[in-house]
Amino acid sequence: RVCMGSSIAYWAERNPDNIALDDPSGILTYAELDRIVTDYARAMAGAGLKKGDRVCWLGKNSGLYFTLFAAASRAGLVIAPIGWRLAAPEVAYVLKDTQAPLLICEPEFAETARNAAAEAGTVQTILAAGEADGLQALDEWLVKNTPGDLPETDTSEGVLQLYTSGTTGNPKGAVLTNDNLFRLRPLVENKPEHAWIDIGPDDSTLAVMPCAHIAGSGIGPIAFYNGATMMVIPEFTPDGVLDCIDKGLKQFFLVPTALQMLVSVPRARETDFSSLRSVTYGAAPIPLELLRQCIQTMPQALFCQQYGMTETTGTVCILPPEDHDPNGNERMRGIGIPLPSVEMKIVNENREEVPPGTIGEIATRSGLNMLHYFNNPEKTAETVDADGWLYTGDAAIMDEDGYFYIKDRVKDMIISGGENVYPAEVENAIFGHPQVNEVAVIGIPHEKWGEAVKAVVSPKPGVDDVDTDSVISWARERIAGFKVPKSVDVIPELPRNASGKILRRELRAPYWEGQD
Ligand code: ATP
Ligand code: MG
Repeated sequence: RVCMGSSIAYWAERNPDNIALDDPSGILTYAELDRIVTDYARAMAGAGLKKGDRVCWLGKNSGLYFTLFAAASRAGLVIAPIGWRLAAPEVAYVLKDTQAPLLICEPEFAETARNAAAEAGTVQTILAAGEADGLQALDEWLVKNTPGDLPETDTSEGVLQLYTSGTTGNPKGAVLTNDNLFRLRPLVENKPEHAWIDIGPDDSTLAVMPCAHIAGSGIGPIAFYNGATMMVIPEFTPDGVLDCIDKGLKQFFLVPTALQMLVSVPRARETDFSSLRSVTYGAAPIPLELLRQCIQTMPQALFCQQYGMTETTGTVCILPPEDHDPNGNERMRGIGIPLPSVEMKIVNENREEVPPGTIGEIATRSGLNMLHYFNNPEKTAETVDADGWLYTGDAAIMDEDGYFYIKDRVKDMIISGGENVYPAEVENAIFGHPQVNEVAVIGIPHEKWGEAVKAVVSPKPGVDDVDTDSVISWARERIAGFKVPKSVDVIPELPRNASGKILRRELRAPYWEGQD
């Protein structure tokens, strides 16, 4: 089971009739999926794609995407999914960066695909997964190619290239290997303390977060290395997830914004969640109030927070179920403890380890760390040192018990009058204000203090006018004076990227023009 494709073959032999994929186009058993994956892999090999070539996917989540991902793993290729919310020039950036000769798109994105490929100038073939004017259909292309021989899989080579979310700057192409993905399996084998994500042939999990992110694509290896069923929905909607719950879904991963939408719909109150064994969440800080609400809605589920990044194949640190409490507790404000196979420490600006209780940057080392940033040795060397420690860019503290608490991005830290202010802490303080729906805190230039703290908020539905003075006094009651925003802007909705993270840099930009 050296790659995801051969793992599907392994399970096809043991449990041929077990359902591997369940998506809107139908279901596939492990035996059926194995046949299709093998056909696709041979077609790719016969089409003249060379070992290590990138294959780009522009589309939503689908069984087909995961089939192509598995086929690429058997054909020695690297799949690189592109976020479908991106505009053509952003897609062109990724296409060019990957140098992929082949782009496969869903018909709905045919025009973006054509425009982006024209701009990138690197794509040789565009195929449509279905019918699209002027594009060859994937199925036609498959039957046209004489099947080729499949190479030996090298477990230390790249198989999945994912672009970071672009929260702090230009996205970078993190290359993940078969070895990296296989380690998502020990992650689930550490029983019983990891019963939360204990998943096997009788279980089902859900691919719902966008496949261009590790939270989406990572579900493939989790399901297929474990012989489990993967339900797939094209994109997150509360109804889509609740439909899967109605079908007996055992576990899912959602980002906090999606969880908030899920528990807010009236249907959630009528849904029987009893099949659901575990809820995993992460990728961004979760407000404690929201977490409590989720536990109340799905009381029988084990809750587990996951912390990680694209560069670490997703999760390296978890807040396990036993640290969750329906009434909330201090640990629920943190990201928990590293996985058993993962090392994690806090370092200062000189990358020296600091004692518990001191704020610094999280560094992590494990077999989950990426191979490198594609074609970017400089950025790779900045991020991973010679001893294999990967510097996350996240500011945090570790307590005496080894629990980690994220303060914020190192890059987003505000230095106001010599004091460090972490936006997340200020945002948490404002979050419960009755008129405020969303909040982001940024630093803006200030002559005297260097930077001044500013909050940008959006109003709750039905609220016409947010009383900005009351937001400031609300914060003053909860946090130290130097952290309290000096000013508050009200805008209809905060800018977010596809993984639901607020883009503070976009909010900052107009204030820093010519100064940063
Ligand atoms: P870029 O690197 O391009 O700026 P990004 O860091 O947002 O974008 P991802 O790799 O998708 O791209 O996200 C990883 C980051 O998400 C982490 O570095 C951390 O800041 C944040 N994160 C992940 N999990 C959690 C969590 N459980 N709680 C708080 N923050 C989290
Ligand atoms: Mg990052």
